[in-house]
Amino acid sequence: TLGGTTRLPPATLPPTLDISMSARAITRRELESALHKREFEFYYQPKVSMVTGEICGAEALIRWIKPDGTLVLPGAFIPQAESNGFINRLTLCMVQRLIEDIDRINQRGVPLPISFNVSAHDFQNRKLVNLLMAAIERGEIIPEQLEIELTETVVLNDCPVVIDNLNTLKTLGIRLVMDDYCRGFSNLGTLARWPFSTIKIDKSIISQVEQSEKELSIVQSSIQMAHNMDLDIVAEGVETESCYRLLQNTGCSVAQGYWISPPLPMASFLSFLKEGRHWPSQLLGMLHMAQ
Ligand code: C2E
Ligand code: MG
Ligand code: MG
Ligand code: MG
Repeated sequence: TLGGTTRLPPATLPPTLDISMSARAITRRELESALHKREFEFYYQPKVSMVTGEICGAEALIRWIKPDGTLVLPGAFIPQAESNGFINRLTLCMVQRLIEDIDRINQRGVPLPISFNVSAHDFQNRKLVNLLMAAIERGEIIPEQLEIELTETVVLNDCPVVIDNLNTLKTLGIRLVMDDYCRGFSNLGTLARWPFSTIKIDKSIISQVEQSEKELSIVQSSIQMAHNMDLDIVAEGVETESCYRLLQNTGCSVAQGYWISPPLPMASFLSFLKEGRHWPSQLLGMLHMAQ
């Protein structure tokens, strides 16, 4: 079913959101069972180059689709998986899934860089990095196509195995993205010490840039710093055209957010790529040329 000529499955109704899940603790047993039944999948949210207006990558975001069609967001089960120790197994299985997905994307002729999120726990042993290394050796993935988004919590606990993992990823050619930049403590020393190639400014800052001089200057300084350090910079949570234009004028290089596209199930993501990007990029491209 992975063949390039296979027809896409018919579009399914959008799943309804299950809010009740967040109200109670999800047990490890429930998570085990859902994993076993392949109820976890990735949605893909496009990233767009603010320079060319082209789609230049995507972030894989985990979703739990229950048999009755309800959709559970990661906020309702990733913290539980982290505290009950299930996260390591979940990550390893989902990376396997990611490799299959990337293969499908590539077969459509669009080898975009794909990023995925990891928890601090995933770097406290060598399993994830070993899995990635083995997949690269078998030729299942190209390291340059893979990006790992991690937050400060991963590097704050800088025990030798974490350091070793990060350096191995760097050596392999897998790029590291500092996620949620400016949300936590955002220790600048972290950026200097670790081999990040990209910083991603948190949506809590991006959502304020139009209303607040303070947030705008944080973004401006971050962009300046990123340029000086030769890092790429991504703005997450771009929800309006005016926000997009402001960030573009500020020199931000990549944007991600609802205004471009929400995270999409694989089939919709593939048609999004194929059908010429149903986001306002066409219009923006013209505005760009008119300037
Ligand atoms: P994140 O990595 O910072 O992902 C960005 C979140 O912002 C996503 O929420 C995305 O759907 C949402 N978002 C995107 N565009 C907009 C926008 O324009 N406005 C607003 N308000 N939100 C937007 P989501 O998918 O619920 O994921 C939440 C968090 O869960 C992620 O934050 C990430 O830390 C974690 N997560 C997601 N997938 C995985 C995974 O596979 N493994 C692990 N360990 N964590 C994951
Ligand atoms: Mg992320
Ligand atoms: Mg995150
Ligand atoms: Mg974030």
